[in-house]
Amino acid sequence: MTDVKVYNGNQIGGCITVVSSSKAKVMIDFGENLPGAEAADPAFDWEAERVDAVLFTHYHGDHIGRFREIPRSVPLYMGRVTRQVMTTIAEYTKDTKALQILQDDTRVHEIKAAESFAVKDIRITPYLVDHSAFDAYMYLLETPDKTILHTGDFRGHGHRGKSLIEMIDKYIRRRGKRKVDVLLIEGTMLSRLTEKVYSEADMLKDCIRLFQEHRYVFLICSSTNADTLATFYQAAAKNRIKMYAHPYVCEQISHFREAEAEYRKSADKNRGTAGGDHRIYDFKYVYPYAPGKVIPAYGNLKKDMTQEEIMRDEGFCIVIKAEEPYRKWIDRFKDLNPVVVYSMWEGYLNPGHKAYNEKYKAFLDWCGHVQYMHTSGHATAGLLAEVINAVKPTESIYPIHTENAKELERLHIKEELRGKIRYGEKQSWGCEKGNVKK
Ligand SMILES: [Zn+2]
Ligand SMILES: [Zn+2]
Repeated sequence: MTDVKVYNGNQIGGCITVVSSSKAKVMIDFGENLPGAEAADPAFDWEAERVDAVLFTHYHGDHIGRFREIPRSVPLYMGRVTRQVMTTIAEYTKDTKALQILQDDTRVHEIKAAESFAVKDIRITPYLVDHSAFDAYMYLLETPDKTILHTGDFRGHGHRGKSLIEMIDKYIRRRGKRKVDVLLIEGTMLSRLTEKVYSEADMLKDCIRLFQEHRYVFLICSSTNADTLATFYQAAAKNRIKMYAHPYVCEQISHFREAEAEYRKSADKNRGTAGGDHRIYDFKYVYPYAPGKVIPAYGNLKKDMTQEEIMRDEGFCIVIKAEEPYRKWIDRFKDLNPVVVYSMWEGYLNPGHKAYNEKYKAFLDWCGHVQYMHTSGHATAGLLAEVINAVKPTESIYPIHTENAKELERLHIKEELRGKIRYGEKQSWGCEKGNVKK
C-alpha cells in the first residue's frame, strides 16, 4: 500500500512530502518556511520515519534550506546546478558543514531529466521544468501500486516553459499509455491572482528598450534567478552593454553558463524537459565589479582603461542587492543618473505583507526613482488548470505550496477532475490523513 503525507502544504514554502511504499520511504524537499510564515518549521522524526532518500526539486531555500538537518545515512538527490549553487553559497558563507555534505559523492546523487533511478521498490523519474531557479524538477514516483506526480515549483512564462504541456503528454503520460494516480501540484499563485503575469519574453522586449534609453542600469535581482539575469544580460548585450556583479554573483552565473554549454552538446537535449532556447544563458560578458581595475588594451580596446572608464564609456548593467554596502556602488556613478530596476517580488516591499523586508524598503526609498520589472516564478491559474487537465490524475489532486488551496476548485478544470481535489488539516495534509488506499 502506498502512503503520501504532506507537511505544511497550506503555506508557500517549507512544504515537505513523504511517499512510502511497503519497502521504501522517500521525502521530496526539506526546506525552510518563507520569512514571516505563521507556523514554525515542522519537526521531523527521522528516527521513527526512516527515510531512504530525500529528493530536492530545486535550490530555493524553501525547498532545500534544511538539508543540513538530515541524518548522514540518508542519500540526497538533486540536479547538478542545484548542487553547484548550494556549494557556492556554502563557500561564501563559510558553512563547512554544508560544504562537507555537498562535496560528499557517496551521499549526493546528481539527477538528470528523464533518467530514472530506484530507491528500493520506488522508481523515480525527474523532469526538468521552467522556474525562477535554473534546474527545477517535477518528480514522478512509481511504487508497486501507485503513480504519483509531484510538480515542485514551476511556471510556463519563463525562457523554458513553452512546451510544458507537451512534455507532460509525451514523457509523463506517454500519450495516454501511463496513468498518474495522484497529483501534488504547487499553487503559489492561487493567493496572488491579482498579480499581473509578465513573461520573461515580454520583459526582454521591455529591457531592450530600457537599455536603449538608459545606458547605466543597476539591477536588484536574486543572484540565482537565472532567467531574469539572462533577460537583462541579453537586453544589455543587444545594446553592447556588459554586465557586472559581485564575484559571488559571477560565480553563480558561471554555473548557468556551464550548464548551458553542456546542454547544447547533449544529443537528446529536450528529452524530459519543458524545452526552450538555452542560448539565452550564454552569459559571455559578465565581469566581477572592480571599478579601479586596469584592463589592458586588447581587440576593440585601443588603450589601457580602468573598468570604471569602460563602464562610463559603454554603459553598464550592474547586479546589486537592496543592501547597505551597495549604496557606495550607486554613489560612485550618481553623476550619470543611473536607473535602478527592482526585479524581485513586490511583496517584500509591502509593509502590510508578512514577508515585508524593512531593509529593502529603506534601500529603495534611498534610491529614489526605481523601475519595477519582475516576472513571477510560479504558474498562473490558467496553467495550473492546463497541467491538471493534461495529467488527468485518476484518484486525487492535492494542492501544495499554497495559501489558498480552495481556489483550485474554481479553475477551468474538467468536471470529473474537480471532484478529485482533496484537502487536509491545517498543519499537514495527505491522502486520507496519509493513506492512498489501493
Ligand atoms: Zn517554493
Ligand atoms: Zn522555488
